Amino acid sequence: MRIIEKRYFVVAILVLALTCSFSAPSAQAQAKLRIVATTSDMASLAEAVGGDRVEVNSIARGYQDPHFVEAKPSFLLLLRRADLLVVVGLQLEIGWLPPLITQSGNPRIQPAAGGYLDASQFAQILEVPTEVITRAMGDVHPFGNPHYWLDPGNGRRVAQGIAQKLSTMRPADAAYFQQRLQAFNDRLTQEERNWDAMMQPYRGRKVVTYHRSWPNFLNHFGLISAGEVEPRPGIPPTPSHTIELIGMMKRDSVKIILMEPYFDPKTPNSIARETGAQVVVLPPSVGGEKEITDYFTLFNYDLALLVKAFQATK
Ligand SMILES: [Zn+2]
Repeated sequence: MRIIEKRYFVVAILVLALTCSFSAPSAQAQAKLRIVATTSDMASLAEAVGGDRVEVNSIARGYQDPHFVEAKPSFLLLLRRADLLVVVGLQLEIGWLPPLITQSGNPRIQPAAGGYLDASQFAQILEVPTEVITRAMGDVHPFGNPHYWLDPGNGRRVAQGIAQKLSTMRPADAAYFQQRLQAFNDRLTQEERNWDAMMQPYRGRKVVTYHRSWPNFLNHFGLISAGEVEPRPGIPPTPSHTIELIGMMKRDSVKIILMEPYFDPKTPNSIARETGAQVVVLPPSVGGEKEITDYFTLFNYDLALLVKAFQATK
């Protein structure tokens, strides 16, 4: 009997505690904003500025090709309850995201709604075509290069855009988001000094990349893109293009091939054998390796690998 009484007492206390926390009029009682980002990079930026006022989930994993993501039922569950969807845009996600948004049935995150944020509007976009390019031609970058997060300057711009959006959605927390944004910017400025110093000796070096994931990155660090293993973004290597690429690499002494972890290394390896170049597997996204836990460690990891490769291939 005494035990049962005790149990009732504990339950009563719990109920009381829960009631109090729910009825408290403070900002703490407001539920966290539920953010879904299409990629881990956007998620990392949203986490940086959103802090403990947001709950962030991402769809594509950092080791997956963000152009081609296999839809899973769990993505629908995430989208169904999202307050805000952050997308990379420029059609990066066009192969998989639109049906998920429709099927989610969530009016808040439909493309014209207030909970849909296309981060590309904040970034400096390279390779915006002057002529009309369609996906029918096989090109997966029809509106310009969608891998813009690989320039830290764009990370700064996107973080600011997200902070602005969060402040609009939760005006009471605007000062908090602003403070988080400031802390992110300060850290980025400090890291950028280190990164620029690391890359200073290698400015002007030429590299070949598998996919055109790296123009923003190469631009920022003063490196030069000499060509790609893909004949066009999204088109697998062809023998004739590979032969051309090998000829160019020999002529210009290009010794580095950057490859995203999700491509088949067969062609890059055979090009490397022909040219004496080194294949460097470089993750373009947060989570691409377990050490890459956020936007800062992404650059730390990739730049360390690059420096090592440059030192090995004078
Ligand atoms: Zn791409």
